[in-house]
Amino acid sequence: LGGHPRSVFADTDLIVISPGVPLDIPSIAEAGTAGKKIIGELELVYQLKKPKIVGITGTNGKSTTTTLIGRIFSNAGRRTFVGGNLGFPLAEGIEQENQYELWIVEISSFQLETIEEFRPYIAALLNLTPDHLDRYSSYEEYKQAKLRIFANQTPQDYAVLNADQQITSEISPRLRAEKIFYSASRELSVGVMVEDGQIVSRLDVHVRWICRVEELRLKGKHNLENALAATAVASLCGIAPEVIRNALREFPGLEHRLETVATIRDVNFVNDSKATTVESAARALESLTAPIILIAGGKDKGMDYRLLLEPLKRQAKALILIGQAREKMRRSLGGFSPIWEADSLENAVELGFKSAGPGDTILLSPACSSYDMFRDYEHRGRVFKETILKLLN
Ligand code: ADP
Repeated sequence: LGGHPRSVFADTDLIVISPGVPLDIPSIAEAGTAGKKIIGELELVYQLKKPKIVGITGTNGKSTTTTLIGRIFSNAGRRTFVGGNLGFPLAEGIEQENQYELWIVEISSFQLETIEEFRPYIAALLNLTPDHLDRYSSYEEYKQAKLRIFANQTPQDYAVLNADQQITSEISPRLRAEKIFYSASRELSVGVMVEDGQIVSRLDVHVRWICRVEELRLKGKHNLENALAATAVASLCGIAPEVIRNALREFPGLEHRLETVATIRDVNFVNDSKATTVESAARALESLTAPIILIAGGKDKGMDYRLLLEPLKRQAKALILIGQAREKMRRSLGGFSPIWEADSLENAVELGFKSAGPGDTILLSPACSSYDMFRDYEHRGRVFKETILKLLN
């Protein structure tokens, strides 16, 4: 609106900032130095309501896991708020008539930067890989923001942790909360894991068999990890195995996350527009049947694209680059060929379709954010799907 005069905060006692506003921009930094209280909406709602919170954070899988946990609780008839960094903002939940038993909240690193007293009853950290390096000066700084989710927990609270992630062994000795581990790759004496192809929850003397891994409607190892995290949270809250099983069998996943769009002349189209990190694009390549034509690129977030090289070599037959990050990606992925470029997503889809044969998959999994060409990842996903519809017609 034409500027941000410093006087705006002169007579202010409390400043509540949007997660999109970095704390180090001059007007906010000065207000902080002047002793003004600066918090975010997560902290504001916590202070006003002191809700019992299940907080879900991590680099990838937050929305999927949060929504899945929400489904399990609603199928169990439990009165819960589901939202935060996706769907409803927390402030929507504070009206007096809303008495939620539990708040299931997706939490971003940006939101965690401004907490003070915020203390989740259950905090789940799904995974951690470099992200948002356009906002943070280093991976370490991003990591420290994420780890704040555990900062105020006490031994009466729980930390749900992915035993397959390196970050877990690094942080667990320091956590005060009771630790609950899950693993998609090995058996644990206590925790949630896969045994003989079945998901099992062993948190106390009761062993709860949930379902066979093939019964999960969500596909891919990363989604198995998300399902294990959701099972851990639900088991901790005493939800019956049948209820968890039904939700895992029914939950189709969210739009723009490995979403099957259509099959045209035996070519499959998959929309994974929400894959804004290298890690999630790599997981998408590994989860689908080769050969894949990958459409990637967009606005660079300071990512190291070389991590895509091996999955590309194993799974892809071509890479089509779009957006600002094109040059950087081409340089980092020089070991793979062919790499083509397109000046729009529509042209990339057409180019991919022309080069595809029966049984191929054309996958949009950009490994970048969308803001150079689109309003957001949802807009990008919709344009992808509309272009496919045009091909279909
Ligand atoms: P977030 O809310 O953390 O961005 P989403 O559930 O929206 O996570 O998924 C974002 C992207 O990450 C999608 O491309 C999805 O396929 C991928 N993804 C989901 N879960 C995981 C996971 N556990 N590990 C790696 N990638 C994942």
